[in-house]
Amino acid sequence: MSKRTKQHLRNVIKKAIQATRSRKEPTCAHVVCQNPRMKKNLAACIMVGLVFTVCGNVWSMDVASATGKQDQHQKMVAVIIDDLGNNMKGTEQILNLPVKITVAVMPFLPSTKQDAMEAHKRGHDVIVHLPMEPKQGKPEWLGPGAIKANMSDEEVRAKVTAAIKEVPFAIGMNNHMGSKVTSDKRIMSIVLDVCKEHGLFFVDSRTNYWSVVPELAVEKGMPPVRNDIFLDDTHTLAHVNRQLTKVGEWVDEHDTCVTIGHVGVSGMHTSAALHSSVPTLKDHAKFVGISDLVRSEWGWKGAPATHTTIPSNEQ
Ligand SMILES: [Zn+2]
Repeated sequence: MSKRTKQHLRNVIKKAIQATRSRKEPTCAHVVCQNPRMKKNLAACIMVGLVFTVCGNVWSMDVASATGKQDQHQKMVAVIIDDLGNNMKGTEQILNLPVKITVAVMPFLPSTKQDAMEAHKRGHDVIVHLPMEPKQGKPEWLGPGAIKANMSDEEVRAKVTAAIKEVPFAIGMNNHMGSKVTSDKRIMSIVLDVCKEHGLFFVDSRTNYWSVVPELAVEKGMPPVRNDIFLDDTHTLAHVNRQLTKVGEWVDEHDTCVTIGHVGVSGMHTSAALHSSVPTLKDHAKFVGISDLVRSEWGWKGAPATHTTIPSNEQ
């Protein structure tokens, strides 16, 4: 409230008090209306009421805008970078980002452990990037340890467990490809159960419109966290920059944004665009790891035993 408004309010209240003190008549409105002096008093009272209402509104707006500003600071953007674990292009540049991100590391590959440990050392979150059968695509794109639609319950359980043990410091999991498997309720139910048993949550990458993951996650008391924006489905710097602009617009409208990019073919573009966009995006939201987002948004309390997966010579 401005100084001038406060002064005005004080004057109005003072006048109203003076008017009330000097009156002798009953205060019922229908009587007051017939009495010129009481009319004056009533007008003063109405004015006081009005001033209080206006000032109250101004105060409420101040509080709302302050709260809005506070919310602005609490908005979160979680960048997940997929496909680490195979010495892919852009890995070092991604790990060098000056903000906290999440790396999704594929199991059973040459740099699986190295990438996961390096990311953890630099303060980033690590999740398992589990290969899952797509509707289309070459089998060799899947990578080792993939979950396929024709596997038995026991096979799926064994594969997921082995993948979790492969990736040091993993606190969650997401899917690599998987347009076929993520719509399979039987398989995804086992995947989510194994994740939960190990204290991991599952991020639906949304490679499939018909994914059953969010619905299953809610049923199992897990965070239904999913990708909002793909950064680099087209491999050009201009496209990644455009997508990052969309991330900024998204967090202006929503409290959180999960966005997924990749190392590999688009790795250099994605890392370069992220490096240049971070300062601007920081004005829109705070960069957090995906674990911070699920704890804050859904009160996730999973406690994975990541230390058991570190190779003994590295401990
Ligand atoms: Zn992937």
